Amino acid sequence: MLAVEGGAPIRAGRAWPVWPQYDAGTERELLAALRSSRWSVSWYAPAGGKSRERRFAAEFARYTGAAYGVSVDHGSSALVIALEALGVGPGDEVIVPALTWVAPATAVLRVGALPVLVDVDRGTGCLTADHVRGALSERTRAVIAVHLACTAARVDELAALAGETGVALIEDCSQAHGTRWNGRALGTFGDIGVFSLGAAKTLAAGEAGAAVTDDPALYRRMLMLRADSRGYLADAPRPGEYELVEDCEIMGGNYCMSELTAGVLLDQLPRLDAQHAHRAVRAGELEAGLAARPGLSAIPVPAQVDRRAVYEYGIRFEPGVFGAAPVERVAAALTAELGTKVYPPRPPLHRSALLRPRTKARFARIWDGADTSGRTFAGADHYREHTLLLHHSVLLGERGDIDDLLAALDKVRAAYRPRGAAPEQEVAV
Ligand SMILES: *Cc1c(COP(=O)(O)O)cnc(C)c1O
Repeated sequence: MLAVEGGAPIRAGRAWPVWPQYDAGTERELLAALRSSRWSVSWYAPAGGKSRERRFAAEFARYTGAAYGVSVDHGSSALVIALEALGVGPGDEVIVPALTWVAPATAVLRVGALPVLVDVDRGTGCLTADHVRGALSERTRAVIAVHLACTAARVDELAALAGETGVALIEDCSQAHGTRWNGRALGTFGDIGVFSLGAAKTLAAGEAGAAVTDDPALYRRMLMLRADSRGYLADAPRPGEYELVEDCEIMGGNYCMSELTAGVLLDQLPRLDAQHAHRAVRAGELEAGLAARPGLSAIPVPAQVDRRAVYEYGIRFEPGVFGAAPVERVAAALTAELGTKVYPPRPPLHRSALLRPRTKARFARIWDGADTSGRTFAGADHYREHTLLLHHSVLLGERGDIDDLLAALDKVRAAYRPRGAAPEQEVAV
């Protein structure tokens, strides 16, 4: 009997890896930030020296291979300053994939532009150049491509199209820190790469974000946009000196990252590659298990991806594999078997409760002028109804965890399989 109906679960009493991960080294970095008396880049350092948020930005840029990095308080803020740095504003349209967290659409509204939702590839859940081409208008100023869950948008085609059409490309890499496409990090193909460093992400600091670019002018603008028109002193501040100077080329807001947060990130970044490698081993085992199970498969990853980050591991199922059970019911049954959360993707933005521009006067004015007739989202809807997601921390444990996952899939599939369907062969895990 299924655990969700009161039966014994596949896994009980054995914990899953805890996320986020930290140790005495993290505590040392956090305490050092605390004791420095410099809790903000806007405050001075009694001892002098560069701020932690400036050092993290440089380290993170180096990690991605970009020339410049900017630290901010959220991934959402990184999107806002990226759009503002590119000059996107009222009267402009920005193409946003229907399948993503709501922030890319919200950020476009926050700068006064119109987010144009477009459908995605039903396999990867990502935007393609064809989808973008079908939504271009004379008002299109930018495209926000999201590298979703555990795969990548075809960024070479998107960058080529952006180059042809003169439309800016922002890569939202909030779910793909360190994914490489032919050896080059995502986030460096477009004009600007943006990253959330929120608590759930693979590089986590609670509430934080970053942007990277190779363009010195965009870098300079983003610095001012996130710190009320201030940039950095050229050199490290001397003891007691302020590091931010009023450059005032462009009016900004305050989206600065806390120094305490930056301390945590300086500890977390050097751990990221080993975590990626650990997850890749578990993901490989899971993929081998899925390949032996008809009707189940992993989210496809383009062949050009030679190192990938897994934010949410996606398992696809063919219609009918779990009988008539909808994805929510399958996810709930798996969650009960495993004692860790298995969940469907969030509803696409065209039917998301999180995207409600009419509840804010300044957004309603933008939204109500939009012509949304004739738009369909078959790819996004299919992905939503036929994908099961696992948080990346589930892949930070042991081989036995994967055996449990596969056993739970088998048990739930056997329970929900349509009556009269031939039982499938036992598969050794
Ligand atoms: C998490 C996420 C964001 C938002 O980042 P915050 O740091 O929460 O503001 C933006 N885009 C995508 C694709 C995300 O997954």
